[in-house]
Amino acid sequence: MTRPPAGSGGARRVRCRCGRTVLRQLVGRRAALDVTADADELTAAAAAELREPNRLDWCVRQRKSGPDLAWVDRRNHPAGCPRPHVIDHKCTAPPAAASRPRRTRTTSVPEGQLTLG
Ligand SMILES: [Zn+2]
Ligand SMILES: [Zn+2]
Repeated sequence: MTRPPAGSGGARRVRCRCGRTVLRQLVGRRAALDVTADADELTAAAAAELREPNRLDWCVRQRKSGPDLAWVDRRNHPAGCPRPHVIDHKCTAPPAAASRPRRTRTTSVPEGQLTLG
């Protein structure tokens, strides 16, 4: 198992809470965006149709280390892009931690024990 050095880019395939396989990557040079996208590859046209103001699609470049997501800039991105595209993952899992009962954990150490030894 060889791990690519941090910062080399590339997406990680992870299992989301909802059970779907997603690609996670920090995309962008200056302001990196923590992207979670569906691992299903679409054509550029199909991804563009699914795109919403808050749901972006990403151009997938295959590198030796694996898929690498790239920002789709309409000015720089070719209209008939031959690469596969992926779209932001829309999670169907319920939000975590919201319904979890809150328990305050108190580590009560009797004061006498601290002086033992
Ligand atoms: Zn593309
Ligand atoms: Zn999910």
